[in-house]
Amino acid sequence: MTEGGATLEESVRQRARAKLAEADQLLRAVDEGWAPPPFDPLLVALALGIRCAPVAEPWLEDAMIFVQEGRPTILYRPERPRARTSFNIFHEIAHTLFPDYLSNPRYRHPRRPRLFEPEGRLEYLCDLAATEFLMPMDLFSADLKASGFGAGRAEALATRYGASLEAVCLRMMEVDAESCALVLVEPRRQLKRGEWRELERWMELPPQGGQRLRATYAVLSERFRREGLTFPTCLALGQRNCLDRAARSRKLVAGPERLELGRGQSQDFYVEALPLTTHPSRRGRVPVLGFFYPR
Ligand SMILES: [Zn+2]
Repeated sequence: MTEGGATLEESVRQRARAKLAEADQLLRAVDEGWAPPPFDPLLVALALGIRCAPVAEPWLEDAMIFVQEGRPTILYRPERPRARTSFNIFHEIAHTLFPDYLSNPRYRHPRRPRLFEPEGRLEYLCDLAATEFLMPMDLFSADLKASGFGAGRAEALATRYGASLEAVCLRMMEVDAESCALVLVEPRRQLKRGEWRELERWMELPPQGGQRLRATYAVLSERFRREGLTFPTCLALGQRNCLDRAARSRKLVAGPERLELGRGQSQDFYVEALPLTTHPSRRGRVPVLGFFYPR
């Protein structure tokens, strides 16, 4: 989809950059302490004439924007994790890039619309813009160039931008500095033994006992795609693989891995497995992001 030559996505990112530049210029002039990143969403909103009010209303999932007495107003839940609150407020600011928020007296999201619904498309574009507000691409890619790509850089970047580890890793993939597949593996999303057995039969996987993990998603860098590589979301790995070790130890684990692709095919990778939390989990394993670099 294009708008004046640029893709719609790129034009939304451009609009977000212009808005952020407008706020940045104003804040630099009036606030000596303003030295982003991180970009404080409350200050950015203030500079753009948007009112923000914390509320503890249980009906409010994360945040919402509406017009009150002619002024855009964002309500948000302050007790959510900080990185999530920042992203949510930037998402609501992003709604002001589109005219339709003005016609909604109370722009509420009781249920997040699916991508194929018209509102889902808008939500997706607001997420794109929110990411641009939180981690402007020119700054972020310069930082990544200076520090180098990889799971080991994620924590410092997350602190620098006030973003979550997962958001930072997804942003890294957009920079496309490496040939890499990024996967999220969550203990609660795993298949049952019987479901795996069916899948193993269909994929013609070797019957011996490696470990099977299902990825919640897999994101491929452009370079990875250009090499003509694909990546399965059902991962057949060795018994003591990096992802599982990181999920249990809650520490970054790296090393070589062979991934069975089924029907006699396999692919060698160097893997970095990054746990998304250091807090223990009742399940004995925590969610993990895996960086797979083909070898
Ligand atoms: Zn929204």
